[in-house]
Amino acid sequence: MTTYPHLLAPLDLGFTTLKNRVLMGSMHTGLEETKDWNRVAEFYAARARGGVGLMVTGGMAPNNEGGVFPGAAGLFSDADISNHKIVTDRVHDAGGKIAMQILHAGRYAYSPDCVSSSAVKSPISPFPPKALDADGIEKQISDIVTAAARAREAGYDGVEVMGSEGYFLNQFLVTHVNKREDEWGGSYENRMRLPVEVVRRVREAVGPDFILIYRLSMIDLIPNGSTWAEVVQLAKAIEAGGATILNTGIGWHEARIPTIATSVPRRAFTWVTKKLMGEVSIPVITSNRINTPQVGEDVLADGCADMVSMARPFLADPDFVAKAAAGQATQIAPCIACNQACLDHTFSGKMSSCLVNPRACHETELVLTPASHPKSIAVVGAGPAGLSTALALAERGHKVSIFDKADQLGGQLNMAKQVPGKEEFWGLVDYYKAQVARAGIDLHLGVTADVAALADFDDVVIATGVTPRDPKIEGQDGPNVLSYIDVLRHKAPVGQRVAVIGAGGIGFDVAEYLVTDGSPTEDLQAWLEEWGVADPSDARGGVAPQGPKPDAPVREVTLLQRKAQKLGKNLGKTTGWIHRATLQMKSVKMVGGVNYERIDAQGLHVSYGEARENPELIAVDTIVLCAGQLPERSLADALIAAGRTPHVIGGADVAAELDAKRAIDQGTRLAATL
Ligand code: NAP
Ligand code: SF4
Repeated sequence: MTTYPHLLAPLDLGFTTLKNRVLMGSMHTGLEETKDWNRVAEFYAARARGGVGLMVTGGMAPNNEGGVFPGAAGLFSDADISNHKIVTDRVHDAGGKIAMQILHAGRYAYSPDCVSSSAVKSPISPFPPKALDADGIEKQISDIVTAAARAREAGYDGVEVMGSEGYFLNQFLVTHVNKREDEWGGSYENRMRLPVEVVRRVREAVGPDFILIYRLSMIDLIPNGSTWAEVVQLAKAIEAGGATILNTGIGWHEARIPTIATSVPRRAFTWVTKKLMGEVSIPVITSNRINTPQVGEDVLADGCADMVSMARPFLADPDFVAKAAAGQATQIAPCIACNQACLDHTFSGKMSSCLVNPRACHETELVLTPASHPKSIAVVGAGPAGLSTALALAERGHKVSIFDKADQLGGQLNMAKQVPGKEEFWGLVDYYKAQVARAGIDLHLGVTADVAALADFDDVVIATGVTPRDPKIEGQDGPNVLSYIDVLRHKAPVGQRVAVIGAGGIGFDVAEYLVTDGSPTEDLQAWLEEWGVADPSDARGGVAPQGPKPDAPVREVTLLQRKAQKLGKNLGKTTGWIHRATLQMKSVKMVGGVNYERIDAQGLHVSYGEARENPELIAVDTIVLCAGQLPERSLADALIAAGRTPHVIGGADVAAELDAKRAIDQGTRLAATL
């Protein structure tokens, strides 16, 4: 008997059966744009070998105007079919099933050629769309239908028609965008005509024995979004139009409510999908912040859906399902929902990967082959850099010992996990513990390794991390001054009024920690209220009329930096706005362009600009230093002085702009070469 009977149960679709209830949701990785179809095929085949029931590809444009950006991958021509066939053949050989997502971006397309229901520009694109005329609409339908027919020819098991997240089809549904007065606008009957017509004609073109998923926006999270009655009406019409499965979409991309970031509670929106259960007779998939087999199992056992969609968890671990089925859930590399290597890359025009699994989307290039001459290797430092190196070395057959002067592994991850909204880091540390034990790595915690202790190893990897930068402010040795380590690691008492010096990732984290009591991420109701999410049966689009209702801040915090630019400018591309909004909701004062003059018993004295004008006292009880970090290289230097050539990685190598993503990637890549 499996631990996950609901998750691993087959799903009979009539003409075909999925082997379990897990869908790998669509992700735009950038792989298809490389046109290296072997690489694309290997990405999907690895996930097929890992046992997932059904995969959906990244969004494929049906035509040029529908592409997310000019040159976005699609199925425009019959010539593309043979490329896609490389992927579907490889997936089928691996025992998997795969559907192609058809994504028409409408006014979200980053292109002057973008089109929509009406000429209403989106707040997240600089390009106003052209309002389509009736012929233009017919062309879009026909292109989507042609793409579906080509997908069938290319060997896909189905298509997913992307109707949510504020893309083209969604743009017809709501009056927020659709201002038309013809048969495609006005009444809801008219506004939903396009998605229903698309589904009907796709079904007509592909025949009955082909999976047709429709991704339906169940809670728009924008003003003037759909009502719940409209969602149900659409779902029924889509079912009648011939869809096989309904997938859940949560929030438009322009919504100012987070939907998948790490601070969003796990399974935060499955209650929305549950409302649709019983309204239609085809299977319904739920989605968003489901990242462990147990969460997936609970969601299904609670009757929230017939199937769960997980996307990013399959970047973190292609073998998610196989490991769950084998009772090895602790061995699953967890997606911590950080977006750092996946969505942040996508939105920066870079290839996606994964912070915890740098091999994601690099399957053909970053390969951990068995070592030809297994060596004895010491890794000093049990933070993300050291751990990823040690695990990859062990996987290659080397004999590995880890040393760390701390009495627990995880390094700075242990501080990150203290921050409200970063609870997923607990799971990452637990994963590393389980992996180190499984790999039989010799673990020396609470041990300060020196040159003599490392003498007998064939190779030494230095991953000793960082030390806090000394900002050299007059008075910083006073009793009212703490470092971020005192606050996050040693839980030092902090006064009621606080100045945080330094507004990098750590300054933001510390500010969030200081203003929050408990963590809304651990309390779904509190989180929904904090961000102003309502039941879509009570409020259009699920946007609470009273707006966000955060708890009062537990401290009065001022966050400072010397640069004159906006604070948090260098935070994650897709998550920086959430951190800024969270602090704004907690009335954190953000001040840039300061000079730190001195600290005394009254607080922090600052001035402004190069001329050091407008001297001011920021009267606070505590000042917390978060002024960046410097490499900790003393052991590396001692080894070099003793004639050794250690490999220096992570923060010990370069501290600036250090994050776990770079550390893990660098460690894994080094291990692949030793
Ligand atoms: P950081 O991002 O480099 O920020 C350092 C801050 O200290 C800056 O605001 C900087 O602003 C200020 N600073 C630099 N030199 C200073 C000096 N001499 N005196 C006073 N202030 C000074 O470093 P961090 O905040 O320590 O974070 C370390 C790394 O961890 C970051 O690179 C980040 O990527 C990662 N991290 C990421 C996250 C995340 O959410 N993704 C969270 C935590 C940490 P001014 O120079 O303008 O004063
Ligand atoms: Fe998940 Fe972060 Fe990896 Fe993206 S980069 S898949 S969010 S762990």
